[in-house]
Amino acid sequence: MAWDFETDPDFQRQLDWLDAFVAEQIEPLDLLLGDPADKSDARAMAVVRPLQEQVKEHGLWACHLGPELGGAGYGQVKLALMNEILGRSRWAPTIFGCQAPDSGNAEILAHFGTSEQKAAYLHPLLDGDISSCYAMTEPQAGADPALFRTRAQRDGDTWVINGEKWFASNAQHAAFFVVMVVTDPEADPHRGMSMLLVPAGTPGMEIVRNVHTVAGTGTEGDHHSSHAYLRFTDCRIPAANLLGEEGAAFAIAQTRLGGGRIHHAMRTIAQIRLAFDMMCERAVSRSTRGGGTLGSLQMTQERVADSWIELEQFRLLVLRTAWLIDKHQDYRKVRKDISAVKAAMPKVLHDVVQRSLHLHGSLGISDELPLAALLLNAEVMGLADGPTEVHKIAVARDLLRERKPAEGLFPSAHLPTRREQARARYAHVVEQAVADQS
Ligand SMILES: Cc1cc2nc3c(=O)[nH]c(=O)nc-3n(C[C@H](O)[C@H](O)[C@H](O)COP(=O)(O)OP(=O)(O)OC[C@H]3O[C@@H](n4cnc5c(N)ncnc54)[C@H](O)[C@@H]3O)c2cc1C
Repeated sequence: MAWDFETDPDFQRQLDWLDAFVAEQIEPLDLLLGDPADKSDARAMAVVRPLQEQVKEHGLWACHLGPELGGAGYGQVKLALMNEILGRSRWAPTIFGCQAPDSGNAEILAHFGTSEQKAAYLHPLLDGDISSCYAMTEPQAGADPALFRTRAQRDGDTWVINGEKWFASNAQHAAFFVVMVVTDPEADPHRGMSMLLVPAGTPGMEIVRNVHTVAGTGTEGDHHSSHAYLRFTDCRIPAANLLGEEGAAFAIAQTRLGGGRIHHAMRTIAQIRLAFDMMCERAVSRSTRGGGTLGSLQMTQERVADSWIELEQFRLLVLRTAWLIDKHQDYRKVRKDISAVKAAMPKVLHDVVQRSLHLHGSLGISDELPLAALLLNAEVMGLADGPTEVHKIAVARDLLRERKPAEGLFPSAHLPTRREQARARYAHVVEQAVADQS
């Protein structure tokens, strides 16, 4: 019997240390420091580097990666238990070496990179010395990658890139860009696109502007991070900067996005919990006219109960999906489950945050609490890494693929038909019983 919801005691001790470390040392930094992707911020690095050393000493650095790449290789379930704490803080993922989009970029470099590419990009990324950017979305197309147009053409020993990318997070601080490009416009899009590694500062690549969302992590807004509108004009990079095989961009993107989506979901649990804890504190703190607390009112009780149930359901779905990834070691086999988590995430975050915000009244909607930013973050979660609709379509397609049509005129659960079948099946027993009685 393999079902088990216990965390083993050794790892629980690690989690307890992590929980206290995040609360005491890192969460205060969210209120003081700027963009975690900005490695040139000497003031921030002076505080952050020693904290990263402590994380490494505890064996919790870059846990999404195996030991050969400097991580603990804990797998996704343990990572989920860590991330549901780290997700409380804007800076914690960077201090633990597992921040997006670098974690996903490291994963694909580890999987598909040559030894030269790993030396140039992966190792400094894993050491936390540089930041990176993933540029896939285009101004005219996001949810449907088949409509991407940014083109790379081979010219001798170089690739020449022309086109535009949109909403590429952290571009302003990135040392390199993973860029999805069309390399064979005649081929089916699933085989006609490739991934290129473009070093920052390459002539021909410009940041047209940095775009900001009004949402945030809820801990101190999102005004530090930015998402770039990028333009490539005859941007020339060495042919050796092709990541993986030519035409393999879709497969590489799936490896990257599968991990990215589930990691976002793990961190989102922390944000839902934050809103839920705030709701409970408010429920037992604020009094009403009748003298009781808000928590003594049934409508508040319903909010608390619904929120806890939805949080726990979502957490179980995330942990089960993490467990499936560990089991199969192949994101393609868990695509439906990851899409289900991705589709569920914005709704649970929205609903719990909305109830908590409402219970806090005017203070809830103000910029003196993190709830309004968290509410908008639910919208971010419904868009980043693909809109909810696309993920629901993926879930339904997978669920329906193996289904067979009903054999007869009526559904297979049709009661009169089933009753008829049951009668036919047991006719001899009934006949025998009647014969025995007569
Ligand atoms: C905070 C944030 C960070 C991001 N970071 C990055 C990044 O680093 N790199 C990067 O490349 N991209 C990034 N993105 C972009 C993100 O991947 C896209 O926003 C997403 O794929 C949706 O694309 P779009 O914005 O062009 O919306 P569209 O594709 O225009 O979709 C808009 C809406 O149309 C509807 N829709 C679209 N397709 C369907 C369909 N098949 N069925 C039903 N309805 C549909 C949905 O309601 C959807 O929300 C980021 C986005 C956000 C919000």
